[in-house]
Amino acid sequence: MNLTMDKLVNHCKTVGFVYRGSDIYDGLANTWDYGPVGVELKNNIKKAWWKRFVQESDNTFGVDAAILMNSRVWEASGHTTGFSDPKMDCKECKMRERADNLVEEYCKKHKITGLTPDAMSNEELEKFIEEHKVPCPKCGKSNWTPIRNFNLMFETSRGVTDESQNKIYLRPETAQGEFVNFLNVQRTSRAKVPFGIAQIGKAFRNEITPGNFIFRTIEFEQMEHQLFCKQEDAQKFYEEYKQKAMQFLLDLGFPRENLRYKDHDKLAHYAKAACDIQYLFPVGWEELNGIHHRSNYDLSRHQEFSGKNMTYLDPQTGEKYIPNDIEYSIGCDRLLLATLCNAYDEETLDGGDTRVVMHFHPFLAPYKVAVLPLQKDLNDKAREIYRNLQKHFMCTIDEAGSIGKRYRRQDQIGTPYCLTVDFDTLQDNTVTLRDRDSMEQVRLPLDQVVSYIVEKIQF
Ligand SMILES: [Zn+2]
Repeated sequence: MNLTMDKLVNHCKTVGFVYRGSDIYDGLANTWDYGPVGVELKNNIKKAWWKRFVQESDNTFGVDAAILMNSRVWEASGHTTGFSDPKMDCKECKMRERADNLVEEYCKKHKITGLTPDAMSNEELEKFIEEHKVPCPKCGKSNWTPIRNFNLMFETSRGVTDESQNKIYLRPETAQGEFVNFLNVQRTSRAKVPFGIAQIGKAFRNEITPGNFIFRTIEFEQMEHQLFCKQEDAQKFYEEYKQKAMQFLLDLGFPRENLRYKDHDKLAHYAKAACDIQYLFPVGWEELNGIHHRSNYDLSRHQEFSGKNMTYLDPQTGEKYIPNDIEYSIGCDRLLLATLCNAYDEETLDGGDTRVVMHFHPFLAPYKVAVLPLQKDLNDKAREIYRNLQKHFMCTIDEAGSIGKRYRRQDQIGTPYCLTVDFDTLQDNTVTLRDRDSMEQVRLPLDQVVSYIVEKIQF
């Protein structure tokens, strides 16, 4: 089965995973809204991540930091000056494009190798574009303005006056929320190095690049873990988090052959090591998450800019040092997209019918069970069962249409179990549970249904 992004986008819209943002107003570029089953899937992805990296960790503590932060944070992190895209305007048609993207596309098309456009200086980019007469993708002419750097941070202002000191930013990454709380968390949790701070939260980037559905959006959610450790242990923990990040994806049902490590070609000056885990999306191999050995750069910068002492005193040895940081970060929306791609299947059934089925890990499935009464006279009993099951997990009920149609509807949204209520149910309090993947059915006493399902949906 060949899954294209168009097919997936269409499926997501049809069954309620993801809609275009501001849809009735013809959308807003690179924004998407999660629908009734999409929000459940997303919440479950966040739950699975939090369970693995916070709940099941002995030494990780969660935070939920504010999206709006003191502007000094972005001076310390370097975002105020260094977080920009080199852009050019086409003088003919006013199209604005990233210079490095123009060069990259040109090289791809003309099979020019050996260049890394995102590592080229503005002068080098301008020279290349001039020499090769790189055309505008919209109008085909080559008549560009010089490069201007556009900061990727979304600006807003607080208060009613329009003075520059009121300028604040929507955070472009969640990481700084963890760094600025290093001292708070260490003290209040009496945390001993090595320890982690984890956060799930929104970040914003004012990008104009094509998004590929929810792969790249201007507003997105990150799931992030910073492990603070001694310098001599940092490389060991870097390797450990590479493994943990991979294991998390394998446990969610991603096949190993569709995942790969990709070391960064180019490191930031403070970084000791960095790699991504890539997933084979329908559009090719793309980054799913990153693991970075950031030395003690972030805490040192905040010490410098805030004047607060970030030194950790080891209670056993009396050593004093600013801890190193291993950052592990994964985009929630991007993982959701990978999850959709991985789950989607079209199967031919006995008799020639086909079904679209989402083979989600049951922990991630939006609804765990759908209650389906076989006859109208059984609706009351079905409602009673439904209300009882709702207390334990997300369920749905579907009373309309043939049983086959109702199974198909649940398959399309990945519901792992369909519970059918028939006339025997009224006599002996048993029901039939149908498995989404095998389509096999078992007969169970009603009072065993909850424990049966709870066991199957563990992560
Ligand atoms: Zn143009």
